[in-house]
Amino acid sequence: MSAPRLEVDLEKIRHNASALVSRLSGQGISVTGVTKACLGEPRFANALLGAGVKGLGDSRIENIEAMRLAGIRAPITLIRSPMPSQAGRVVAHADISFNTELDVIAALSTAARRAGRRHGVVLMVEMGDLREGIMPEDLQETARAALRFPNIDLKGIGANLACQSGVSPDAGNMSELSRLADVLDDAFGLVIRVVSGGNSSNLKWALSGEKAGRVNNLRLGEAILLGLNPLDRQPIEGLYTNAISLIAEVIEAKTKPSRPWGKIGQAAFGPMPVSGRDGSAFRTILALGRQDVDPLGLTAVPGIEVLGASSDHLMVDTGKSYVTAGSEMTFQLNYSALLRAMTSPFVTKTYSLPAGRGAFEARMTPGPRSSEELHQWH
Ligand SMILES: *Cc1c(COP(=O)(O)O)cnc(C)c1O
Repeated sequence: MSAPRLEVDLEKIRHNASALVSRLSGQGISVTGVTKACLGEPRFANALLGAGVKGLGDSRIENIEAMRLAGIRAPITLIRSPMPSQAGRVVAHADISFNTELDVIAALSTAARRAGRRHGVVLMVEMGDLREGIMPEDLQETARAALRFPNIDLKGIGANLACQSGVSPDAGNMSELSRLADVLDDAFGLVIRVVSGGNSSNLKWALSGEKAGRVNNLRLGEAILLGLNPLDRQPIEGLYTNAISLIAEVIEAKTKPSRPWGKIGQAAFGPMPVSGRDGSAFRTILALGRQDVDPLGLTAVPGIEVLGASSDHLMVDTGKSYVTAGSEMTFQLNYSALLRAMTSPFVTKTYSLPAGRGAFEARMTPGPRSSEELHQWH
């Protein structure tokens, strides 16, 4: 198998999604399965749909087009405000998009009219995290204007927290979002069907037993992929945290002094801390680098420490165990490492059904050690 590669266990993904769908349904909250971290991979999308998500969400029209091309007919929402230059593609392939600008909605309406279609719009409200959103005091006027576009259906409102500034979703900001839905319904008749409260970081609030009010949807990516709560990156009970692994191959394994020698300047990516350790250590190099992954987001098995990475080399200290060139090593990834690996053309993505590997279990396939073995190998 080629390395480096991401192995996505779709059965664990399905389990994670289905557990969240059923826990949230008790709160009257539906789940939009977010596919952006897997670049709209249709097998991933189908695993989410099999788990009972109500629809799919992606931030890129390219990913949405890939899913449509693969025959996925479920409702798909573009969860980033569309580029006006892509309005035609958006109305052709997404049922709904998240919006904050009337100019963009105008472009969508024009494109929808040309295509003989209607397009759904969710207005995003700024709740303090300072990423996308209409200021609450401007929401009613924006909604009034949005309702006037001929080929646009106002579907609801939404918020996104804990992305730019780490502002936590809580009873305060979520009840404010509910109140805004009531304000719009009072002003314009019952127009707000969807109140999309946020992303994976809303789970702590949503599963705390707190009243959901009018919030009836969440958009979940990270919690399904990594089984973690993004607010504190702690595991969510009952979810797999090892649905995705990164496997890389060893290209050098030597015993070297722990400390570098010579006059020390900056390394390729800035100053590097020098090991305080004396003596020598097993230093192993994997064919994996910053072009493939965010090295700070990798976790190896216990006993193996990531020392650093340059563009194409990842240095690890394997402690007491000696590994050989050609061996494979498995890592768990955080969201940043996952995003970079998924978008790197050098990393193969594999989607597998049940494999039954445990958390943090290393799989080191020994490579050939002698020329006889090398011949046997081939
Ligand atoms: C990425 C994204 C999500 C999903 O966030 P996770 O933390 O991965 O659950 C939800 N909503 C919007 C607008 C996003 O951009």
